[in-house]
Amino acid sequence: MKVEERKFDTELAVIGTGIAGVAASIFALKKGLTVALSGNTGALAYTTGYLDLFGSLSGQDLAYVDDPWKAVQDLAHYEPNHPLTRVSIDDIRSSFEEFTAFISACGIAYTRPGDKNLEVLSPVGTVKRTLCVPATMKAGTEAYADRSRCLIVDFKGLRGFSGAQIVANIGSDWPGLRHARIEVPGLSQTEIYPEVLARTLEVPQNRESFATAVKEVMGDEQVIGMPAVFGMHRPDEVMSSLEELIGVPLFEIPTMPPSVPGIRFREMVEQVFPQKGINLIPQQKVKSVEFNDDSATLLLADNYGPIRIEAKTVILATGRFISGGLEAHMDTVTETLLDLPVFQPVSRDQWYHQQYMGKTGHAIHRAGLQVDDAFRPLDSEKKVVNTRLFAAGILLAHQDWIRSRSGAGIAIATAYKAVEAAADFLSK
Ligand SMILES: Cc1cc2nc3c(=O)[nH]c(=O)nc-3n(C[C@H](O)[C@H](O)[C@H](O)COP(=O)(O)OP(=O)(O)OC[C@H]3O[C@@H](n4cnc5c(N)ncnc54)[C@H](O)[C@@H]3O)c2cc1C
Repeated sequence: MKVEERKFDTELAVIGTGIAGVAASIFALKKGLTVALSGNTGALAYTTGYLDLFGSLSGQDLAYVDDPWKAVQDLAHYEPNHPLTRVSIDDIRSSFEEFTAFISACGIAYTRPGDKNLEVLSPVGTVKRTLCVPATMKAGTEAYADRSRCLIVDFKGLRGFSGAQIVANIGSDWPGLRHARIEVPGLSQTEIYPEVLARTLEVPQNRESFATAVKEVMGDEQVIGMPAVFGMHRPDEVMSSLEELIGVPLFEIPTMPPSVPGIRFREMVEQVFPQKGINLIPQQKVKSVEFNDDSATLLLADNYGPIRIEAKTVILATGRFISGGLEAHMDTVTETLLDLPVFQPVSRDQWYHQQYMGKTGHAIHRAGLQVDDAFRPLDSEKKVVNTRLFAAGILLAHQDWIRSRSGAGIAIATAYKAVEAAADFLSK
């Protein structure tokens, strides 16, 4: 039987379902554009839930950043080509405001971007700086700032998270911190996965027995931290119900990826985006993009057969090596979908610094697409590749998001500008 090709016409096609692609779809929706979004959803599940704008300064000395806004402003002096230098501070703030407001309204409440970074716990108990956190993690930043008496509870059988490790790493700086381990009622015989426990805690009866077990190990602590397991779809509700049962404020700490906050985010996107009118083709990669006079044709396929998207504009947000947006060969780095020119070190022996932990980082991490002020990819002669094509996220060159702790910041702010430019193009 011949399978019919499905065809979608849209004003904007977004390629990539990481934070940049998701943010671009949200911004485009707010502008009233029709959107088709496609991509493998793995990348979202890797996020911790923390939305970093700028957490540390790379360069000769890696220094933690308390004021991310000033750090971004200063970039113009020492990293003039960094993608965030193309976005005004007001636009970065608006992008974070819009992004966190949308997600909050969809069921995962977030803190709004403040003037300073928040100090938050990593899965192993080191402290990092970030701009916005899920509401389920907020009490942790406050407890650390106040050095409140705090109990970290972990669970027998849980892999990849240890309360003892957290206390060992941060205890000298947080004297009132201790840890305890409980057996989760009903899951005591088995290996526990955070995702399973999160879904288990969506059931009210399970929360009651869980709270009883937590209360048995609790002392006079003012607050309790746990690995991120407060439900998959209604985390704020699950947390406040547990707080009521246990009697003190609670907070989540992200576990190793893929962690519940990332999976939560991914499931929210898959549930909410189609309801909002976004044409979501999840778990699929675009196989080809061809530009013609008045549109671009994207080809892909899912379990029901081939799909053709006719788009007036395209935003490429395909990420770097892990996500498949860039590919490293023996002596060169290529862009995988359109074979766009990639800014990169002139030869492979310059990809890495002599010292693995070298303070300036590795040149390969700054490889990526070069764009103009409208976030349109440039060819090797610095000319716009196609006026309908825009790019956003960590696929962009001249940034090392891992060292600067600015993954979400680059993704959200550049998506905001790419959508603005695409909308501008469409309006003409
Ligand atoms: C382990 C880990 C922990 C992190 N922790 C944090 C954190 O605490 N705070 C923070 O701010 N950031 C964090 N990040 C970074 C953050 O997740 C990324 O910066 C952000 O997701 C970058 O987004 P992106 O959308 O540009 O790229 P990616 O997230 O890499 O997404 C790219 C997307 O493009 C898709 N794609 C690729 N090729 C195609 C194609 N041909 N067709 C369709 N789709 C395609 C991929 O499947 C993927 O969905 C973390 C990342 C990792 C890996």
